Amino acid sequence: MYQAPRGTQDVLPEDEKYWRYVEGTAAKIAEQFGYGLIRTPAFEDTSLFVRGVGESTDIVTKEMYSFEDKGGESLTLRPEGTAPVLRAYLEHGMANRSQPVRLYYLMSMYRYDRPQAGRYREFHQFGCEAIGDGAPMVDAEAILVAWRFFEALGLRDLTVQLNSIGCRACRPAYLAALVRHFTEHQMGLCHDCQRRLEINPLRLLDCKQERCQPAILSAPASVDHLCEECRVHFAETRELLEGLSLPLVPNPRLVRGLDYYTRTVFEIWPPVVGGQSSLGGGGRYDGLMEQLGGKPTPAIGFATGLERIILKLKEQGIAVPEVGKPDLYVAHLGDVASVPAFQLANEARRVGLTCVAAVGSRGLKSQMRQANNLGARFAFILGEQEVQDGTVTIRDMLESKQWQEPRQAALARVLETKG
Ligand SMILES: [Zn+2]
Ligand SMILES: [Zn+2]
Repeated sequence: MYQAPRGTQDVLPEDEKYWRYVEGTAAKIAEQFGYGLIRTPAFEDTSLFVRGVGESTDIVTKEMYSFEDKGGESLTLRPEGTAPVLRAYLEHGMANRSQPVRLYYLMSMYRYDRPQAGRYREFHQFGCEAIGDGAPMVDAEAILVAWRFFEALGLRDLTVQLNSIGCRACRPAYLAALVRHFTEHQMGLCHDCQRRLEINPLRLLDCKQERCQPAILSAPASVDHLCEECRVHFAETRELLEGLSLPLVPNPRLVRGLDYYTRTVFEIWPPVVGGQSSLGGGGRYDGLMEQLGGKPTPAIGFATGLERIILKLKEQGIAVPEVGKPDLYVAHLGDVASVPAFQLANEARRVGLTCVAAVGSRGLKSQMRQANNLGARFAFILGEQEVQDGTVTIRDMLESKQWQEPRQAALARVLETKG
């Protein structure tokens, strides 16, 4: 027996309502802010991610699905959306459009990661990128889009964690202070952090190992090492957000897993945070466009994980609109009625109803069981007599009542109930 590859999942029709709800809400909120949907290829040149995501990151060193195609090109299934979106921005000359260019995506991503609850090797993200303007108002707006999305989903008790990690001018001094601090505590650090200390000291702040926590808690904060421009930028961003009544939590330890972030970084956290449970996050990445061969272009964005969000919706018991439940099921009794029932079902669809027809030769009891399992609101039952006098027996599946009615009146009743 075949199984879906490790770290992937099938989404069955009964779960579709969650996907429809989350993706529909994402599209609605993003478009309310003037973001346009972009779709990029599932794979790109490997070097786009090596340059764009950062050579020292876990994604590039351990998690990419890279392969050589039959023409000898090295390609990689996209592990994230920002580098592809920037590549598209450059390729299509979007610098000539009015800035900022606001783009959102709903796409699958691929990372060879250890699967666990809410974490898959093929997963889906809703993300936004605002490219071409460095004003604090753009930062505040991007954070607001992310927040409005979670708020509109109805998720409770979330917080917006906010930090600034400085720019090219002020980051080196901060990194030096971090290295000094962690070198003093080097004996207590986990193996990964020993390595990070040499490659990317910022990532030590992100370590979840128990033994590293004391050193992390006493580490210098980036906000105390910002240059004047970064300090003003962060203060203005915060001020704008504070006027919007978000559940904002300044978090001096917050860093992001990717190398390209500058200044503002943020994450959306559920009430209990452990390991990988952030629902989404992002930040400013003013240096990335240059790294990909473009002109210096300020930009900010975020991404959210749809599988984790759906898990959280279920955990919090949030009711989402049903999808795919038929308005009507058309059953038949006896051979004479089966073709007229098939035709009546088609008529029902033509007037706008979702209608499932009983097909084959199963008995009425089995047909009604199917109507019930599908969650049909009404059922029509056609027998020999109904066919003769142009009526149906209509059954209200919710109220468990049934009566006979002329066909057109019965159809009108189902349509009216549908609203
Ligand atoms: Zn700075
Ligand atoms: Zn550690």
